[in-house]
Amino acid sequence: MNTFLLEIVTPERLVYSKQVNSLTVRGIEGALGILPGHIPFVTPLQVAPLSVKSDGVTISIAVHGGFVEVHKDKVTVLAESAELPVDIDLERAEAARERAERRLQTRNKQEDIDLGRAELALQRAVTRIKVSTGKGQQ
Ligand code: ATP
Repeated sequence: MNTFLLEIVTPERLVYSKQVNSLTVRGIEGALGILPGHIPFVTPLQVAPLSVKSDGVTISIAVHGGFVEVHKDKVTVLAESAELPVDIDLERAEAARERAERRLQTRNKQEDIDLGRAELALQRAVTRIKVSTGKGQQ
């Protein structure tokens, strides 16, 4: 069979578990395409959508950091949080994006804003908005 098992796991739940045809993730050094039979490796992931092709249909999943582990017949994505498009509350993500952008804009005036935290919150919100609105394909 020209597929492999993909599992996406967070500390809270198993988000996805299915035989898939291919997977594209955004590693810290760029996009990585994974097909059946890929050599084993482990790499950290960016906060970004990943694309999965299963039964000929491609979907995006919001994945917030973590790692991808490629084994012989199985790929595991371990992330702090991850959501399928149907799980995403778009209004909540838009509110989070506005909050993060406001924090980043006031950074010069207010020294106590944690820039890295605001940037990561913005990436999570943008990732959720892309996946929810169907713009998460890489
Ligand atoms: P917010 O500021 O809206 O809480 P956040 O990026 O700080 O967003 P996280 O800490 O990444 O949130 O996630 C906390 C939990 O809430 C996780 O289980 C995550 O899946 C869920 N979550 C966060 N934002 C959304 C959203 N827009 N839609 C659905 N689930 C979400």
